Amino acid sequence: MKHTKVKDLLNSAPGLHEVKAKGWVRTFRNNQFIALNDGSTINNIQCVVDFENTPEETLKRITTGAAVCVVGTLTESQGAGQKVEIQVSKIEILGDSDAEKYPMQPKKHSLEFLRENAHLRIRTNMFGAIMRVRSTLSFAVHQYFQEKGFFYVNTPIITGSDAEGAGEMFRVTSLPFDGTPRTEDGKVNFKEDFFGRETNLTVSGQLEGETYAMALGQIYTFGPTFRAENSNTSRHLAEFWMIEPEVAFNNLADNMDLAEDFIKYVIKYTVDKCGEDLKFLEQRLIDEEKSKPQAERSEMTLLEKLSFVMDNNFKRVSYTEAIDILKDSKPNKNKKFQYLIEEWGADLQSEHERFLVEKHFKCPVILFDYPAKIKAFYMRLNDNTEPGRDTVRAMDILFPGIGEIVGGSQREERYDVLLEKMKALEIDEKELYWYLDTRRFGSAVHSGFGLGFERLVLFVTGMSNIRDVIPFPRTPQNAEF
Ligand code: ATP
Ligand code: MN
Repeated sequence: MKHTKVKDLLNSAPGLHEVKAKGWVRTFRNNQFIALNDGSTINNIQCVVDFENTPEETLKRITTGAAVCVVGTLTESQGAGQKVEIQVSKIEILGDSDAEKYPMQPKKHSLEFLRENAHLRIRTNMFGAIMRVRSTLSFAVHQYFQEKGFFYVNTPIITGSDAEGAGEMFRVTSLPFDGTPRTEDGKVNFKEDFFGRETNLTVSGQLEGETYAMALGQIYTFGPTFRAENSNTSRHLAEFWMIEPEVAFNNLADNMDLAEDFIKYVIKYTVDKCGEDLKFLEQRLIDEEKSKPQAERSEMTLLEKLSFVMDNNFKRVSYTEAIDILKDSKPNKNKKFQYLIEEWGADLQSEHERFLVEKHFKCPVILFDYPAKIKAFYMRLNDNTEPGRDTVRAMDILFPGIGEIVGGSQREERYDVLLEKMKALEIDEKELYWYLDTRRFGSAVHSGFGLGFERLVLFVTGMSNIRDVIPFPRTPQNAEF
């Protein structure tokens, strides 16, 4: 007989036929009640062992973390909290777990401890819930774009272009450290490297994605990206997953509409599919916030926050308006900001973004039309700006508790303007000839954005550290597992 998933058993009507379940013991109470979990759901199934007719030797091996197979009948449960339970007639220990040594004890562990045990933390309710939500969100991403007729493009992970400027890169090389081949003037001779040139891990698939949008119309990428930025924050990973749609003929307003619609869709999809996991995560957040002073606790529960995002329009605010708000804000006047906003042109730090989202607007905000000099070379220069106030059609979406979740723009479609910008920034046009070709042959208005998948998972799960929403986080000084 094949075993049935715990999720399906819990949804079955009791009956006299035999069922089989396999999973890991979460707890074993009174020598009688096993709480069995197989990962299919956050809920455990209670398995009632007939301890009088089970050898002592076997009972001793039913310990937290052990893998077991039980056979029995599914009966109506007498206990509170579950409809059905298994009256066990046969139990087999598949894999023992030494109760003294098993790190995941049935008690509260710190998130830090769980991070150190990332290979086992997935056996806790919290990480089971987070990773099921993550999986559902991934599927929703594909479903959204596929339903809308976008094509999924796999841009290269090893790239030859180092001009993207999105962040510090990790080098990819097969050259030896000792006896590195040198050119006559003493520089590393990359001609002898695997690819015959310098290569890096990608920081973004955008530039390659644009070439595909200019043929397939609407495309998206969803893959790993890498940034060697030494920023040890709760929002940055060295390896993270990014979703990058790119659409021919979309302008900045279309781009904002797409991003907003997309985010609402994937959240709704996940709320509909992951109700039990989200309920659990909501309670976790409430419990966590009990240790905070009243003023720092959220006004809304997790599910309320998710509904709020789904039901309300994101507030669209130009950079110039945002600067005026920030200049006049209390923390700016009281010099509470670490970086004071003095004039137009200042780059926004996360403290400013969070002020706008959490204190001022109290909803997701789309900031647009940023100063050209603080944004990337490929962004569309706005026409008719005031002298000395060149802006580009960029947009960032800021979320409460997260800060920047999306960065995007309408792209500069004019060959001459793009080339001039690259020259001014000393970006090698020979390196990016293929990117310039999209503007030489059949150029058109187009736009896209990048959404950091883990930041989305952070928001949906209500977790606060990005290391807790990816299975095996990569951060400075840490690549365990
Ligand atoms: P930030 O200012 O937060 O560092 P960024 O401006 O460098 O972000 P972009 O280059 O616009 O970000 O990348 C697009 C999106 O990718 C961001 O909006 C964010 O959601 C995500 N992202 C960027 N860097 C990281 C990182 N190191 N770890 C996780 N997600 C990231
Ligand atoms: Mn960054």
